[in-house]
Amino acid sequence: MPELPEVETVARGLRRTIVGRRIVSVRLGKTDFIDDPAALEQNLPGRLIEAVERYGKFMLLRLSAVSGGEFVPSNGDSVPAALLVHLGMTGQIAPSAAAQPSEKHTHAFFTLDDHRELRYTDARRFGRLAYLQAESLAEELRAFGADPLEISAEEFAKQARSRRARIKSLLMDQGFLRGVGNIYADESLWRAKIHPARLGVVLKKEQAVLLHRVLREILQKAIVLRGSSISDFLDAEGQPGEYQQHHRAYGREGERCYRCGSVIRRAIVAGRSSYYCPKCQPAPRGCFALPLSRRKSGKSKKKVGG
Ligand SMILES: [Zn+2]
Repeated sequence: MPELPEVETVARGLRRTIVGRRIVSVRLGKTDFIDDPAALEQNLPGRLIEAVERYGKFMLLRLSAVSGGEFVPSNGDSVPAALLVHLGMTGQIAPSAAAQPSEKHTHAFFTLDDHRELRYTDARRFGRLAYLQAESLAEELRAFGADPLEISAEEFAKQARSRRARIKSLLMDQGFLRGVGNIYADESLWRAKIHPARLGVVLKKEQAVLLHRVLREILQKAIVLRGSSISDFLDAEGQPGEYQQHHRAYGREGERCYRCGSVIRRAIVAGRSSYYCPKCQPAPRGCFALPLSRRKSGKSKKKVGG
């Protein structure tokens, strides 16, 4: 699933290509991943895309109030609004020439005022589109915690150390931090030498502060490298990211730790496969690695795409 760096990468691409354009019309295919399909069809035409923001793992396309005589909504509502875009597992959103044939699994077409279409493609449809106005938008955002690139070390450490949850599930808890998922949780825990199953409450303050620092560094570097392309993540220009070449733990079961040479192991923490070095990140009592599924030499198996 695209996490903060991948979504930020897509958002940056959209900022370059669609901000300032007006949505002329909306055409939908399958709609089971859309909150209220009719709301999109009724409310988007006529609105200007004023900004593209990333919020945790999703994007908000900020829309102007409807202007001019182009479209008068029947309910008389012309307050600013937003289109929420969550890419789920396999979602992609990018503009293309309206004349260009669409990819398979394209389920939403937003015709722009410059002969292009903003298209949303999603083979598995675990994504989400929703039209949100002032109050529903505020309601939607209320559930989310701090952005990991904005929260202070002090606040992060205080919050993390007050919780009895496992640190991996804390990092992925969108109500605590918004935007971190499985990959960047494992990578930052490896870098900070903390086992994913450690409880937040047992971390020393220095450990929590270090985790905060490495998490930010990893996310920032991953943004520069346009995210990690595992399976099929592509940015708004259709290019894969490159951060997967820098993974130190995620997806490396059976391979050597870059720091100490031990074999990277996998355990299920917070319901997810969690990769860690058993020497650099000693496990708390009662947490065991899964048996190595089969012998892998580092070179024989290509774990990542791109
Ligand atoms: Zn190690």
